[in-house]
Amino acid sequence: ILVSALLLSLLMSSVWFLVMTLRLQPGKEILLGIKRGEFHVEYQPIIEAASGRIYGMEALMRWTHPTEGRIPPDSFISFAEGQNLIVPLTRHLFKLIARDAEKLRHVVPSGSKLSINLSPTHLTASSFCQDVRHWLDAMPTHHFKYIFEITERSMVSEDNAEEMFTWIHRQGIEIAIDDFGTGHSALIYLEKFKFDYLKIDRGFVQSIGMETVTSPVLDAVLNLARKLNMNTVAEGVETSDQAVWLLERGVTYMQGYLFSKPCTVAQLSENYQILMPH
Ligand code: C2E
Ligand code: CA
Ligand code: CA
Ligand code: CA
Repeated sequence: ILVSALLLSLLMSSVWFLVMTLRLQPGKEILLGIKRGEFHVEYQPIIEAASGRIYGMEALMRWTHPTEGRIPPDSFISFAEGQNLIVPLTRHLFKLIARDAEKLRHVVPSGSKLSINLSPTHLTASSFCQDVRHWLDAMPTHHFKYIFEITERSMVSEDNAEEMFTWIHRQGIEIAIDDFGTGHSALIYLEKFKFDYLKIDRGFVQSIGMETVTSPVLDAVLNLARKLNMNTVAEGVETSDQAVWLLERGVTYMQGYLFSKPCTVAQLSENYQILMPH
């Protein structure tokens, strides 16, 4: 019974997947979605652990499809990567952020960090430098400082990663390694490249206080970061117990539902007083 139930559910899910992909051609839908204005950006505050002040925010893309509703970014980003659409999608992201920036700069203080996720495939696209320069020109001058979040994957698979990272730094943009500890983590890259931040994956943060194998790994990662003089950002902090544990171990920044969910610019404006440092 168990086996046939399993088979049935497998069959059902593959049928569903087939229907989904037939009905919705993801590539076409993404391009249409850009044209129809179905994407928007939400911003999640990043907190300086020692002071509790807002340090900056991470831009997270959102897609509300007219018939499918909210499609999670994990899915549409990987669709976009598979369909060679990551470059147009990221250009669109840049455009949306530049548009939001007009309001955003009245909400968050000057010098705030704005952190953006980049796909490894965009980093090596021939248009990358031009796309970034174009975007920087469209942003208000001297208000924000920028961070590019890049996964470990970008370092392992791209030959000219080093050249790219140097170029990014020369634009005055900092670099964070995203989802640290989840990819084919090669510690050697931490030595080779000078990264500004190490973002600790939510999975590690969730293991805090539990008797799991990941908890000592997190301890080791934080020790390593301290020895290498790197800033750390703990992601997905949901409880004050987690925050206390992280603070005791010298984590520099924290991000998570405990502080704030990702917010639209309008929502950020409403919470305006909370965000301004005293
Ligand atoms: P990420 O870069 O690791 O982003 C953090 C994810 O954790 C976000 O999910 C955020 O909403 C969620 N999160 C933040 N705090 C908490 C918490 O306390 N608890 C829980 N359970 N979740 C929390 P989201 O927005 O669904 O994004 C998923 C992934 O999609 C991102 O992971 C990132 O890899 C990708 N992504 C999102 N926006 C973009 C984008 O504009 N460009 C690119 N290339 N990738 C993006
Ligand atoms: Ca990220
Ligand atoms: Ca992450
Ligand atoms: Ca992630």
